[in-house]
Amino acid sequence: MWDALPDAARSIVKELIIHGPQSRTALAKTLHLSTGSLTRLTKPMVDAGLLVEGEVVHDPVNGRPTRPLDVAAAEHRFLGIKLTSDRVHAVVTDLRAEVIAARDEPIADHDPEAVCRQAKRLLDDLSGERPAGRSDGRSDGRSDGGRAGATVGAGVTVGGNARASAQVGGEPLVDAPFLGWSQVELAPLMERALGVPCVVKNDVAALAHQHHWFGPGRGLRDFALITIGAGIGYALIVHDHLVAATEADLGMFGHLVLDASGPMCPEGHRGCAAAYLSSWSVEATAGQGLRRAVTYDEVLRLAAAGDRVCRSVVREAAGALGRLIAHVATVSMVKTVVLAGEGVELARLAADDLDRALTADRRGVPGSVDVVVEADDFREWARGGAVVAIQSFVTGSD
Ligand SMILES: [Zn+2]
Repeated sequence: MWDALPDAARSIVKELIIHGPQSRTALAKTLHLSTGSLTRLTKPMVDAGLLVEGEVVHDPVNGRPTRPLDVAAAEHRFLGIKLTSDRVHAVVTDLRAEVIAARDEPIADHDPEAVCRQAKRLLDDLSGERPAGRSDGRSDGRSDGGRAGATVGAGVTVGGNARASAQVGGEPLVDAPFLGWSQVELAPLMERALGVPCVVKNDVAALAHQHHWFGPGRGLRDFALITIGAGIGYALIVHDHLVAATEADLGMFGHLVLDASGPMCPEGHRGCAAAYLSSWSVEATAGQGLRRAVTYDEVLRLAAAGDRVCRSVVREAAGALGRLIAHVATVSMVKTVVLAGEGVELARLAADDLDRALTADRRGVPGSVDVVVEADDFREWARGGAVVAIQSFVTGSD
């Protein structure tokens, strides 16, 4: 059924997923369709159980009694996975990316096929499904009655670059040095293990998609996402689309020079974003002042408690982040910048320093950029995987 949906029907589903239940009149207006076309497009989806009708309400557009349409969110489940160098973070969500179950655990074996088997076990555990013996066939989620909870897609995100290769029929190959992977055909391996279609994406790109459909970027046509952690990540949504990035682009952003007399990064740049903001830079700079090794969490904790060295390191990093945001907003002309990742605490602890630097680099105009600081939660990264699976399922492309 889903495979055969025309584009107009897919836009209806997308609109309902992102913006919630709506009357046919409201939907027709938003999507520039006649009510006749809308009824023609939605009827088979209602009959097939993809869309459901709510209780009778008065239509906000024309005041007539109507039954708003919604997607059958609970009946479609998605597995989202984020792989780090040593852990698998997994969630199972519904069609609106609401997390139903989540777990993270160490990667038992870094061999790609072993990671796929681990993903399958996590899917079974999180779905409350019993692995029905050892079956090498595709486990068709509809076979057990077609009720709530059939897993229909999966999305895996990695910090490396998943890119299309010319050699292997366009299958994305994954380079993830931190996993010891080079040119791994992850999507087909995962599909064989899980028995459902699988999309593989860069983790920052997936997080941007998540914010775009379900987070603070919902309803925004343009925004940027900056992630702060061991590396500095960046994604840009313009006119409702993610700007595609090459492997080289992805590695470039963190080394944007903010102050040519600043601290040095391992690549020998002075004052690049990574030299101020990456977790290892923050640890190294604070360690120098404290004359001992410190962890990233400890620096943040000590800064919050008023330690002079750590406070100073955090303030300097937040100032650099303010300048980085100013660069992004000025060049791309976005009005909203979302911050995510384990380093967002820098922006909270030294919000004034961030704001001062941002304003100074925006011709002194205060409030010209809306900075949204997200909670640091690894489940959100796994949810990004589920979101790219949902998008692929709904739009019919990845
Ligand atoms: Zn650098």
